[in-house]
Order: sequence, then structure tokens, then C-alpha cells
Amino acid sequence: MGSIAENLQDIEDRIHRACARAGRDRASVRLMAVSKQQPPEKLLEALGCGIRLFGESRVQETMEKRTLFPDDAEVHLVGHLQRNKARDAAGFYDAVQSLDAVRTVEALETRLAAAERRITAMVEVNTSGEESKQGVWRYDELLQVAGAIENAPHLELNGVMTIGPISSDETVLRRAFAALREFRDRLENDLGHALPELSMGMSNDFEEAILEGATLVRIGTTLFGERSR
Ligand SMILES: *Cc1c(COP(=O)(O)O)cnc(C)c1O
Repeated sequence: MGSIAENLQDIEDRIHRACARAGRDRASVRLMAVSKQQPPEKLLEALGCGIRLFGESRVQETMEKRTLFPDDAEVHLVGHLQRNKARDAAGFYDAVQSLDAVRTVEALETRLAAAERRITAMVEVNTSGEESKQGVWRYDELLQVAGAIENAPHLELNGVMTIGPISSDETVLRRAFAALREFRDRLENDLGHALPELSMGMSNDFEEAILEGATLVRIGTTLFGERSR
């Protein structure tokens, strides 16, 4: 593991190559730094490299380090949101990528209305079939949660998110990411508007995700090194 600047350069090279292979523009993929369980000095190092898009997985942990994020940083919740954390989440994040239940959407909307904030939302889809993972499994569930978001005036639905399967088989990974893209396409058709964001791909599978259309890759350990907590 090198410095964050060195790791970032390697990741950038790999994103460029994956985009070239996919016939895509580099500008169509955003890199999110997943800063969960990383010490403050790593976060500051990433900020020093110009990174301004961050992913966090636990509300409590984000609240403890919220002052480290400058005003021009964009911070998304990518981990499961418990309803009793909706108030803190509503007060801080720029987006919640991990919505998978109507009741959580409603709790978040209530808190956003009280805070007079409007944020972006995505529905998390379980494309791996792994029981340990969050997210909706079936299309009708996706449509239900997406519908609840559409009815929430302080949430703007702009895409879907998934965590790829635990596998190093390119075919298995790409099949899961293609499944998310197909759900997204169907949902766009049913809702009648564009859902541009496909949040998929992490340290071990971001190239496969880019080949299947990822617009936002979420990278933790390959950028920062192993998590400390
Ligand atoms: C931890 C996490 C990541 C980053 O994982 P790495 O394998 O360390 O890159 C991305 N997305 C979500 C939802 C996560 O929980």
C-alpha cells in the first residue's frame, strides 16, 4: 500500500482503462472514497488529494467525525439506515444510497421536512442473492420503495445501488451488475423519468462494474488501506 495519492493514481489508471475497454468517457464515472472506519488523518490526506465525494456506512460514526468534512465535500450514506438514526441522517448527508424499506423512507422524509433539507436518494438492490446483504430482492419491492421516495417531497430519486457478490469470477460479477442496470432501465420506464445513477463497484470489482455501466464506484481499502476499527 502506498500513500493515498499513489493509490489514487493507480485507481485512476484502472478506471481509465476500464472506461476505454467499455467505450465510455472517463467523465461518466465518479469515484467515491469510502472513508468508513478510517482515521481522521487518512480523511485529511484524501481531502489534500482533492477528493470531495465520500461514502460512510454508519450514521453514529459519521456524526463523530462530521466536522472533518469541509462544506464543499459531498457525503453519502452507503450503509444500512436504521429508522432511529433518521434524524441525524437527515441533518447531515447529501444522499442516502441504501434505502430498501418504505417505512425507512417515510421516517427519513419526516426528518428532512423538519430540517428543511432536500437530498438525493437511491434504492439498494440485493443482486448477489447473499442473505447477509441488505437491499430489495425483487422488482416489485424495488418499485414499492422507489414509489415511496417519489412521494417524498424532500427526497429526489436518482438511481440504484448494489454491493456485488463475493466472487472473483468476472462473469458472476458482471451478471450481478447487469441485473442492477436492467432493474434500473425497467424502473425508468415505469416511473417515466431518468434514473442516471448506477452506484456499483468496490475495491475488488469496480472494473467489472464500469464495464456494466457504473456511474459511481465506491472505493475504500484500495484507496485508504485496511480499515482500522
Ligand atoms: C465498505 C463499503 C464499500 C467499500 O469497500 P472496499 O471493498 O473497501 O472498497 C463500498 N460500498 C459499501 C456499501 C460499503 O459498505
